[in-house]
Amino acid sequence: MHPHSDELTLESWLVTAGRASEPGAPLNVPLVPASNFIIGGAREYSRDDGTPTWQALEELVGGLESGQAVAFASGMAAIAAVFDQMPAGSIVVLPDDCYQGVAGLAAAGEQRGRWAIQRIALDDTTGWIRACAQADLVWLESPSNPLLGVADLQAICAAPRRPGAIVAVDNTFATPLNQRPLDFGATVSLQSATKFIGGHSDLLAGVATTRDDPLWHALRKSRELAGATPGTLECFLAVRGARTMALRLQRAQNSAMVLAERLERHALVERVRYPGLPSHPTHATAKRVLKGFGTILSFDVLGGAATADAVCRNVRLVRHATSLGAVESTMERRAAIPGQEHLPPALLRLSVGIEDVGDLWRDLEGAMSVARPDAQRHPSK
Ligand SMILES: *Cc1c(COP(=O)(O)O)cnc(C)c1O
Repeated sequence: MHPHSDELTLESWLVTAGRASEPGAPLNVPLVPASNFIIGGAREYSRDDGTPTWQALEELVGGLESGQAVAFASGMAAIAAVFDQMPAGSIVVLPDDCYQGVAGLAAAGEQRGRWAIQRIALDDTTGWIRACAQADLVWLESPSNPLLGVADLQAICAAPRRPGAIVAVDNTFATPLNQRPLDFGATVSLQSATKFIGGHSDLLAGVATTRDDPLWHALRKSRELAGATPGTLECFLAVRGARTMALRLQRAQNSAMVLAERLERHALVERVRYPGLPSHPTHATAKRVLKGFGTILSFDVLGGAATADAVCRNVRLVRHATSLGAVESTMERRAAIPGQEHLPPALLRLSVGIEDVGDLWRDLEGAMSVARPDAQRHPSK
């Protein structure tokens, strides 16, 4: 018999979910490239009904969050499907710090008169609870990108809200292994499967998961009508990547803690933002809400944007690239991205991968000493 997600730890579920159980069936979900199927069965056209390969990914992610999942072409496609649920004239509440794609999507909708946006500081729990009473869409992202703020999801998701209102949590940074927003009472949890679920920087996919049956149907309908369907190869790769997600996350977040502590003591580093550090403004909330502090940290170097760019140019093991949640460590200066100029100019966002932590530290230290040889001579802070 096929095991059910409720009977297993999430670690075991990741390994076993989405597999067939009939004798003779392949152990792994097959890659089924199909637009249409012979009429009379469960599926006729894949944009409406999916493929067995998408279904395996949906089963896997749905089990991780104990909900029903809908897979999309990208994280943004999943997010857009949630925004698509908003009736004209809605009130949308967003955090002050959030993924630039979400901020852009919300701003574009506001410009067209579809909804009004209100922004709240991520750590202003009272403000969020107050906003829940009037908002149609409460959009949270925690930990946030790139300042790594942690929201008190427990308190916010339990706050009274308008009937029919949606509380959505972008759970990409935490993953369901560190935080399960639906357990706190969120309506829908979003994953960019491009990141930790895929884990190898070789696909784009997104998943929305909910325990609200009408919303699940509505999200599927949005996908069908907008055509934001996931690729079959991408779903296959995402399932394959997810098999090792628990191992990857655990190892990388152990390394992230070590690197955060060492960076905090480095002479060239002005500030480290990592929810696992006692110096982080939302550390107390993070300890309560998150099972683990994640694999992403940001640090500001002394010497401004020029020094930060020099650090990026001089890393060798860490790759100078955007995105996060993959086996390889990546780093970039976020304020260099068009539209992100409001961020601290020397902030480097580092996504820690599964390389040896000693090698990673030597690489970062080396790149910093090339960028600013004089900083080495300062006494340790
Ligand atoms: C990457 C990312 C997204 C968007 O996902 P895509 O798969 O790139 O569309 C949304 N939210 C967060 C927090 C992300 O990191």
